[in-house]
Amino acid sequence: MYNLIDGKLVSAYIKDTVKEKTAELKAAGKEITLAVIIVGDDPASRVYVNNKKKACEYVGFRSLEYALPAETTEDELISLIEKLNNDSSVNGILCQLPVPAHINDEKVIDAISPEKDVDGFSKINVGKLWVGDYDLAACTPMGVMELLRYYNIEISGKNCVIIGRSNIVGKPMAALLLEENGTVTVCHSRTKNLAEVTSKADILVAAVGRAGFVTADMVKEGAVVIDVGINRNASGKLCGDVDFEKVKEKVSYITPVPGGCGPMTIALLMKNTLIAAEKQSNK
Ligand code: NDP
Repeated sequence: MYNLIDGKLVSAYIKDTVKEKTAELKAAGKEITLAVIIVGDDPASRVYVNNKKKACEYVGFRSLEYALPAETTEDELISLIEKLNNDSSVNGILCQLPVPAHINDEKVIDAISPEKDVDGFSKINVGKLWVGDYDLAACTPMGVMELLRYYNIEISGKNCVIIGRSNIVGKPMAALLLEENGTVTVCHSRTKNLAEVTSKADILVAAVGRAGFVTADMVKEGAVVIDVGINRNASGKLCGDVDFEKVKEKVSYITPVPGGCGPMTIALLMKNTLIAAEKQSNK
């Protein structure tokens, strides 16, 4: 019998903890501000930005939105980031990705002051994560760690297999699991005999971006399966990377999609913004 990992429940718990702390800071005269930049009019990005604003409202942060036209130049975008870096009333800055093709996203990310980089994507924060001395790491893998912690799932000494090596999910996920003493394997499109590798996993994290990619034969009996994927199946329904109906019969814990990792990402963005604000006020 499998256990469902409830991302809605855990994300609500995290947001409520952030909300309480934010109210305490407000009572002491400190307001927390997150600045969100969106360039162009990508509909999915618009949905994400609106959800981030709603979450800010919920936890009691002030949110600033900078909606820039698609023609914005890289220099203009970086000047705005520098202005926000120098504004002491702004605690967190994020630029919604993807940015239009004429803008170098790496340059943009690295222009954000590491203390305000609440997405944890800048090279400084990635480096800090890999040496195990970090405050701000990528929200989606941090969300996975919170889920594992909430359900008391042991990581130390376990075989942890991640499918996907992106900078925003797979790689930081590997660093975080390694930090908790997992034995970590990262798979990608060149991995040979993928099913052989994944079927040894005690904890399997799928971050591929392909509906139904992880099938029951790829999963060990009793494994913990975390599905980061957000896809649409042939009938347009939201689904993850895991063939949930078949895989759930073999596992001890599994995340659903929707309602698993998705809500955790925004909750961790709120938590990161609070951490950034606390760090800045302790300087
Ligand atoms: P990317 O496209 O950046 O990375 C996908 C990874 O999957 C790559 O490393 C790729 O390998 C690997 N891959 C592709 N095909 C195969 C294959 N046949 N066998 C093994 N590995 C393969 O995606 P992201 O990391 O950005 O996102 C992954 C999924 O997670 C997406 O569905 C995305 O929507 C979702 N997502 C969800 C979030 C949330 O909040 N829950 C947040 C971010 C992402 P290679 O490197 O060799 O190309």
